[in-house]
Amino acid sequence: MKLKSLEISGFKSFSDFTKIEFLPGLTGIVGPNGSGKSNISEAIRWVLGEQSAKSLRGSKMPEVIFAGSADRKPLNRAQVKITFDNTDHYLNSDFETITVTRKLFRSGESEYLINDQTVRLKDILELFMDSGMGQDSFSIISQGRVESIFNSKPEERRSIIEEVAGVFKYKKHKEKAERE
Ligand code: ATP
Ligand code: MG
Repeated sequence: MKLKSLEISGFKSFSDFTKIEFLPGLTGIVGPNGSGKSNISEAIRWVLGEQSAKSLRGSKMPEVIFAGSADRKPLNRAQVKITFDNTDHYLNSDFETITVTRKLFRSGESEYLINDQTVRLKDILELFMDSGMGQDSFSIISQGRVESIFNSKPEERRSIIEEVAGVFKYKKHKEKAERE
């Protein structure tokens, strides 16, 4: 599985449509303070289903929508689209290219799509669970995360290891089965 592209519009500082293509090899994103580097990694976490506004440096989710600037009006919708090359079928899907889209409107309405088909948030979380790209995975390490892992309780550290080992999904299924 490879990250192919990221398309952002109306998300945080990205008022204009912006497309980043990830070419083979390593991609570095550089820019002055406040130019939007962290907003790019947050766009990736957001499109993959992040539900915590706080972890996106906000207090409410609609704050991710472009809030306007000195010469631009605020927008009413944030949209992020991420595309993966899945020719190796690393993600559990028959598709060779997988595009995930998330939209959020100021009204609070939101939409999730996989390859242009409307899906539930749950479908996105399941697709990436245990892939190393899922929520709480280690493909994105934000500031302060390293310290928090060192300082975490043994149970928390165990769940980190379970996610890495790929057993997290089965644990969730088991919990669900026990509740039913
Ligand atoms: P640093 O090098 O300091 O880490 P950075 O390149 O990571 O900077 P970001 O934190 O990604 O920068 O971007 C911060 C900018 O994004 C700020 O100017 C902030 O005003 C802007 N911003 C964040 N949310 C929104 C929003 N909803 N609407 C408009 N601008 C926003
Ligand atoms: Mg930053």
